[in-house]
Amino acid sequence: MSDAQTLRQDLVTQGAKLAASGLSQGTSGNLSARCGEGFLITPSGTPYEEITPEAIVPVDRDGHWPDGQRPSSEWRFHRDIYLARPDAQAIVHVHPPYATALAMCRRDIPPAHYMIAVGGGGSIRCAGYHTYGTQALSDAVVAALEGRLACLMANHGMIALGSSLAQAMWRAVEVENLARQYVLALQVGTPVMLTDDEVAAVLEKFAHYGLMSRS
Ligand code: 13P
Ligand code: ZN
Repeated sequence: MSDAQTLRQDLVTQGAKLAASGLSQGTSGNLSARCGEGFLITPSGTPYEEITPEAIVPVDRDGHWPDGQRPSSEWRFHRDIYLARPDAQAIVHVHPPYATALAMCRRDIPPAHYMIAVGGGGSIRCAGYHTYGTQALSDAVVAALEGRLACLMANHGMIALGSSLAQAMWRAVEVENLARQYVLALQVGTPVMLTDDEVAAVLEKFAHYGLMSRS
């Protein structure tokens, strides 16, 4: 199988997992993987269980795709992230309940748990609201991802980057878990924040830890 064919199959397999994991339901969210100069992305408006390898859409860096196919409506931010972030090999966009609840309140995730480091820094920012599929939304998420590997999207959802599709999926699950813990902690009392030094120490350890360190 060519690399592209393997990636198409991976996108189908991971999409099915997304639906099963509860991170996204129905047709919400989308997945992509860098491929050559462009990327492969899930088709627009298609339930994950109906997506076949042939239905995955190749998009080039200028935003062109084959006639007769329709890439995810969010192809702009996938393209712009790949252009801005050479470290991103895959992108997962989802609407999971807890991360989205915080995003509906336009709140960042602060360093209330050491796993904040999965996002690559001391916070996971919430990008400003713009209509889905627009260039304005793409500009906002690229800015929110500066120096980070994940962000929330106001009144919408979450994005996680990865050095592979498996890593981006893992990160999306971790960010949702972090959001859930933060929402619960807010109900218990006032979460205590880690200091910059405490977060830096975890970031250093994560350079050699589990999926975080894999390319
Ligand atoms: P697509 O079905 O076009 O990928 O859109 C889903 C989505 O989450 C839009 O933000
Ligand atoms: Zn979305």
